[in-house]
Amino acid sequence: MKQSRPEVFKFGGVAVGNADAIRVALAHVSRAAPGVAVVVSAMNGITDLLLEAGQAALRRDRARCDDAAAQVESRHRELVAELVASPDRANALNAVITESVRELRSMTESIAVLGELTPRAQDALVARGERLVAAIFAIAAIEIGIDAVYVDATEVIQTERRLGTLWPNLLKCERAAKKSVVPLLAARQVVVMPGFIASGPDGSVVTLGRGGSDFSAAILARSLGARALTLFKEVDGLMTADPKSVPAARVIADLHYREAAELAYYGANVLHPRTMIPLVDRRIPLYVRNSFRETSPGTRIAGDVKPGSYPVKALTAIHRQALLSIEGNGMIGVPGVAGRAFTALSQAGHSVSMISQASSESSICFVVPESEADHAVAALEAAFEPERKLHLIDRIDAEKHVALIAVVGLGMRGTSGIAARTFSAIAAAGVNIVAIAQGSSELNITIAVAESDATRALLALHSEYQLHKIRPLADTTGREAKLTLLGLGQIGRELARQVIAQQPHLRRDLGIDLKVVAVADRSGIRIDDKGFTPAALQRFAKRKESGARLFERGSPLTLRELETMMRDELWMLPSYRPVLVDLTSEEKIGRASCRERV
Ligand code: ASP
Ligand code: MG
Repeated sequence: MKQSRPEVFKFGGVAVGNADAIRVALAHVSRAAPGVAVVVSAMNGITDLLLEAGQAALRRDRARCDDAAAQVESRHRELVAELVASPDRANALNAVITESVRELRSMTESIAVLGELTPRAQDALVARGERLVAAIFAIAAIEIGIDAVYVDATEVIQTERRLGTLWPNLLKCERAAKKSVVPLLAARQVVVMPGFIASGPDGSVVTLGRGGSDFSAAILARSLGARALTLFKEVDGLMTADPKSVPAARVIADLHYREAAELAYYGANVLHPRTMIPLVDRRIPLYVRNSFRETSPGTRIAGDVKPGSYPVKALTAIHRQALLSIEGNGMIGVPGVAGRAFTALSQAGHSVSMISQASSESSICFVVPESEADHAVAALEAAFEPERKLHLIDRIDAEKHVALIAVVGLGMRGTSGIAARTFSAIAAAGVNIVAIAQGSSELNITIAVAESDATRALLALHSEYQLHKIRPLADTTGREAKLTLLGLGQIGRELARQVIAQQPHLRRDLGIDLKVVAVADRSGIRIDDKGFTPAALQRFAKRKESGARLFERGSPLTLRELETMMRDELWMLPSYRPVLVDLTSEEKIGRASCRERV
């Protein structure tokens, strides 16, 4: 049976970090194939190593470059040795590795000679991490009987420059995927593509930024109109807080795209912050799962997630921040101070996270990473030199050792009292609040506290919002219940209504995927192996209520005819493990069919 909408799997650096990890990854792929496209990261540590090789080359530290090249070579050769038994394939792959490492060495040598490392050279340098893994992954898949094929990311992910940064041109990506990926999937091949890299505006290879493979996978999922994207990582999903600070932290079962985006932005560090962007308008659900724990259902991120009973779902903390403040009565009512401050900071290369200004306007403060604080203060001092001389601005200051805590949840919007609860919980824990900001999206309250208070504040908030009670997503793998409703009279319709109403609860809490795959009456049988949608069931119910039958036929079928029809059509369904619900007044249908079924 041809799957019309493929799935996209992405394996992170640890999930492809050694031969055993890749075997586990291949098992996931083999269960889903065909109809799956795979995106891989570089092996963990390889991107760092390649970047370091570039830096070492700049310093003319040739020993370090050699060492990096040797490590890249040996880690990949080891994969081949363990995963590829056929000598021809192993030789071919080893030749690819040798060539890639030779190129790496000659690139670092040119960098050392020229004393220059351009962004373009750096991208070309790191691109080999993902490419090597994808090449090996595809061949290792073939070795175990999966019909896999390598497709280079530069053929699919097309970028352009927008406001100084590289951005995928989603329209072009979609067109490219239709051309180079869709036909392969249609031929039942598993496509393996390197993440992180893309084709730049001038056709050269570029990268999507650190951790960018998640983003690559999301772009591919969108371009293919995938039915879901799963990111296989070494963690169980997105968590209510960092378990290192909050031992009671739990995996969050479901999150809205926007909640996940907030968490990713605030350094939950599991997800690239841009991952959700290509998925949102196509409503492609995103799963984050632990590659190494088959039974862990992970986190589901989608657009249909309702606020539910947890107005606050997660806490995150960004450490080692500094709070910059500009103070002075001369700022009151003077337009342009904030504008000039931000301009000065952005010209000096600083990106500001939290911003807060009291309405008295006598001070404005914003947060930058602690390591940038001194440089940022110097930039502000230079920009406000005249005002400082005239004492319109008294102080430009950096308070270091600050942590930002973000309280995130869709349900905060429209639930009053969340800010009050948040602040009282923090106060009750004896923690002083340094600054506060809430975006008007009401998805997030951000609080700056002293670094040494951060853990206490997190613990207090976690228990205030009872986050240790968040229930995980139940595991539904292999737990489908397919119902056939015989008869759709009053009782049958009521049952259909209840099935519809209970579906989310059963799926979430009990891990049972209950669906109605067939309904029958005396006019015939309607079948949908994927399960009828609630709308379809409602349509049938309406029809029956109005006195019509499922099919417009002249005269009702005889019992014998109906039985034959059921036998012929129902048994054709793949993997049909029937649960037959006989709601007819006619005893014989149910019995006769059950007998044949067992
Ligand atoms: N290999 C790249 C990095 O380490 C991209 C990724 O893993 O997502 O940043
Ligand atoms: Mg990674």
